[in-house]
Amino acid sequence: MTKEELLNQHPDPEAKEWFESRPPQVQAAILETPPDCYRSLDNPGHYRLYSYEEPVNSKEITVKLIHGRDSFLPGVLVFGVDRNSLLRCGCGKWQGPTKEQVRLTKKRLDAEKKRFKKEQA
Ligand SMILES: [Zn+2]
Repeated sequence: MTKEELLNQHPDPEAKEWFESRPPQVQAAILETPPDCYRSLDNPGHYRLYSYEEPVNSKEITVKLIHGRDSFLPGVLVFGVDRNSLLRCGCGKWQGPTKEQVRLTKKRLDAEKKRFKKEQA
C-alpha cells in the first residue's frame, strides 16, 4: 500500500499526523501491513490489527492483534506477532467478542493459569 492509499482510507487529519510522526521503519511496516482485519497462517479465525510495536534494538517490527468473535481466544489482545505470519483479509467484517465469549475466555485462561501454577509448585 502507498502512503496516498493509506491516507485515502483514513482521511482524518489525526491519521496523517500519526503516520508522519512515526519513525521511517515503522512507516514502512504500516504500509506493508496496513490497519485492517487479518487471518493467521497458523490458526483459524479473524484478527484485528490493534497497534504496531516500535523496534527495540533494531528488531523486526511486530504487531498487536485482537482475537475476534470467530477466533479461538475471543477478545484476547496478543503482542509480538510476526507480520509474516498474517494474511491480510480486508473483508471489513471483523467482529469483536460477545460478552459471553469474554467471560468464557477469561474463565478458561484463569483455569490454565491455576493449572500452570500447580505444575510449577
Ligand atoms: Zn476480514
